[in-house]
Amino acid sequence: MKDSFDRTIDYLRISVTDLCNFRCKYCMPDEGIQKIDKDQILSLEEIYYIAHIFIEEGVRKIRLSGGEPLVRPGLLHLVKSLGKITKLKDLAMTTNGSLLKENARSLRAFGLKRVNISLDSLKAEKFRKIGGGDLKKVLEGIEESLDLGLGVKINTVLLKGVNDDEVVDFINLTKKYPIDVRFIEVMPIGPTANYAKDKFLRAEEIISSYGLKEVSKDDKSSPARLFKLDKALGRVGFIEPMTHKFCGDCNRVRLTSDGFLKPCLHSDRLIDLKTPLRKGHDIRPVIKEALEVKPFDHKLLEGKIIKSSMNRIGG
Ligand code: SAM
Ligand code: SF4
Repeated sequence: MKDSFDRTIDYLRISVTDLCNFRCKYCMPDEGIQKIDKDQILSLEEIYYIAHIFIEEGVRKIRLSGGEPLVRPGLLHLVKSLGKITKLKDLAMTTNGSLLKENARSLRAFGLKRVNISLDSLKAEKFRKIGGGDLKKVLEGIEESLDLGLGVKINTVLLKGVNDDEVVDFINLTKKYPIDVRFIEVMPIGPTANYAKDKFLRAEEIISSYGLKEVSKDDKSSPARLFKLDKALGRVGFIEPMTHKFCGDCNRVRLTSDGFLKPCLHSDRLIDLKTPLRKGHDIRPVIKEALEVKPFDHKLLEGKIIKSSMNRIGG
């Protein structure tokens, strides 16, 4: 599939739920979010059907996200069904890791290849304060995933004055484990935009102060710049949405848990896929429309803040 700027779109990110068992301060507001009515949320069968059509049209990579994907009842069935589609080359998940230990074995058996685990502190008390839950459970989930041979990346949102004192501890994880630790510049998004603005830290400050050596990317469409310590098993990555644009290599569209296609993370434009789907119409023309209106680039660096909260979009 091509968009109107001749970019190949072969990656679908699916938010399977807007609900979450954490309350990360940069993602969800303290006062909570307005819940979407249950009947507006796509069923697992609907998600599977949409994914299947996308794969028929050329998608080769799917990432399940949320909210927290592992709180969605029946998620393992969806993974099992998707895992059987041979045309799908990469099935991955982004998770807070809290429910990973008990699910990793089934996820792996059903065809999940990789997990990105969000981890913003290695200190239990601070982890909880940022909005996470029990750090121990997340660390156990990481260990279990590694033991089972799942590809593991750690996503750490850089928060000035909150976790910048732990950067070296995160980097050192790559000496011990074959994992990529990726630091992400916090983005002002939706109702938590002010928190993000307050805690924003440029990734470049970290890169220059630790004298890291850049290595080449194995996936051109990945937004992360990669670095490696001497003799390390893993790599250190930086995702810099606030200081760099990666729109030229964008290969993705997003599906929200309530059935809208989101052609660009940083645009409020949503294309209703659920209504035609539930009316029994062919959804291919709607997918085509989403690709046609996918913008050339976003306006985040120019100060545009989208209204939707990250837990609805899936990251
Ligand atoms: N609950 C899962 C998790 O936390 O991994 C999946 C959903 S979460 C919305 C996906 C990713 O978005 C996480 O890595 C999270 O750290 C990141 N994220 C959320 N809000 C963000 C923000 N304002 N700026 C940068 N990254 C953000
Ligand atoms: Fe939940 Fe993930 Fe958002 Fe944290 S970042 S509140 S774990 S959806």
